[in-house]
Amino acid sequence: MLRAWRDALVHLFYPTLCFGCNNDLIHQDQLLCIECIGALGYTQFENIRNNPVEKLFWGRVNVQFATSTFYYLEKTPLQRIVHHIKYRKEPELGRHMGELMGMKLSSLFKEQEMTLCIPMPLHPKREYERGYNQASLLCEGIFKTTGLAYNENVLVRNEHTKTQTKKSRKERWENVASIFEVVDHQAISHKNIVLVDDVITTGASSEACAHALLEHGAKTVGICSLAFTA
Ligand SMILES: [Zn+2]
Repeated sequence: MLRAWRDALVHLFYPTLCFGCNNDLIHQDQLLCIECIGALGYTQFENIRNNPVEKLFWGRVNVQFATSTFYYLEKTPLQRIVHHIKYRKEPELGRHMGELMGMKLSSLFKEQEMTLCIPMPLHPKREYERGYNQASLLCEGIFKTTGLAYNENVLVRNEHTKTQTKKSRKERWENVASIFEVVDHQAISHKNIVLVDDVITTGASSEACAHALLEHGAKTVGICSLAFTA
């Protein structure tokens, strides 16, 4: 009884707000309200061969599968959730979204015999400013619901980010490809790797990472992201 009163008082002064819509949450330990959970646009791409994310990589890199759990649409709870994870230092929300991804991905991972998750590396300066790599948080959540281990020390992103505009298509590709480097070959050798990203738009970074992993000994690579800009 006393505890209920105390919780009610705390809630009055420090209301917990939904990350999707900013409305007051009834339970302190929730991150999203019922309406926002219901409004999350699941793609169900994990059950669809030749889905739009896989098609992005056709003729570019040979991946085992590619999928995104949610549609990334303007002015939706998901867009606000991604914004919170990327710019508002909300690591718990990142882990939670990873858990939701894991629930959708576990049978695909089993079917494809995936053995390790690798987060898309962030520019070191950006990771320092943000305090974390959001893709690593997603991996943590995925691990919690699927049991699939992750390693954030395999793939690194190099510092240089030269301007792309005056380069030819080939030079641009070489520039992107040289950004990602595999620093632990042993860890991926003969393994089926899942590359984990936050939002896939053109797929250029995922493509470069998948190439790097395959060139350095990974047996197969699958790609999954939290969201897809359709
Ligand atoms: Zn909400």
